[in-house]
Amino acid sequence: MSAKSSFVVALDVGGTSMKGGLVSESGAVLLSERRPTPREESPEAVVAAISGFIAHLAGSGEGVPAGVGLAVPGLVSDNSAVYAANLGWRDVPATDFTTLDIPVMLGHDVRTGGLAESILGAGRGVSDFLFLPIGTGIAGASIVHGEPYGGSAGWAGEIGHTPVFPDGEECACGQFGCLETYASAASVGRRYSERAGVEGAKAEQVVSSDDPIAIEVWDEAVEALSLALATYTLLLDPSLIVLGGGLAEAGPALFDPVRTRLVKRLAFRDAPPLVPAALGVDAGMLGAALLGWRAAGRPELGPEWTVDVRSAPMVS
Ligand SMILES: [Zn+2]
Repeated sequence: MSAKSSFVVALDVGGTSMKGGLVSESGAVLLSERRPTPREESPEAVVAAISGFIAHLAGSGEGVPAGVGLAVPGLVSDNSAVYAANLGWRDVPATDFTTLDIPVMLGHDVRTGGLAESILGAGRGVSDFLFLPIGTGIAGASIVHGEPYGGSAGWAGEIGHTPVFPDGEECACGQFGCLETYASAASVGRRYSERAGVEGAKAEQVVSSDDPIAIEVWDEAVEALSLALATYTLLLDPSLIVLGGGLAEAGPALFDPVRTRLVKRLAFRDAPPLVPAALGVDAGMLGAALLGWRAAGRPELGPEWTVDVRSAPMVS
């Protein structure tokens, strides 16, 4: 690197592990490492682990990082981690995640992934789209005028908990008939296991099976998704829907039937194209890098970057 401070620290904090790296002005990933998230210990231990990881990464670069970008789960608003059910913290301001005197920008994990897909991935050049990763759970990022929309308090994008079958099954959230209960990768596996009386079925087995019970469970997942996507389309008029996460690895087995039913549900308007996400499991860290450069006062960086597009492994 020619000049000092020509890189940022980027960190994507998940429930089980954290992926961190150093990303240059030109978008080169100079370093990438993974550490476990110590959520079994305490919220304070998680914050300390993040701070330690940032210090370690910062010390691995030449010179001082220009900024830090962090993607975290839960509720994020006004550059604070307001709440995370799986990590236990409440109201942690961005600056509490590091002891270094460097500007920090905090983002919601899915919205940060959506920002990366918007600037570097499947949504490049598209100003209004939905980014919907489907994995253990379902949450989306609404990209409106090129930016992820957080809503009034940071709750925007919780499409997984919109009701699709009002008299349906109880969701872990306490409501009934939520999209996530039918269509997340975890739910597809669980619902098949329960009905077929087998243990530990995975979504990928259900998707490709000729078993009538598997066909029924998959059909209900597709129905739930097409209902939610029709509602989203009518409400926000996206020009694209980007599906990601483990379930999107099902490829045409997912995209074809959902597309067909979405078209049927939209009588008076065209359905937006459905496309797979481009950045896979790297979306969160790349989005965090964009946030880090924004923290450093360089919001213009990103569109010129070229990114290696790797496919995400199936995670359910
Ligand atoms: Zn729910």
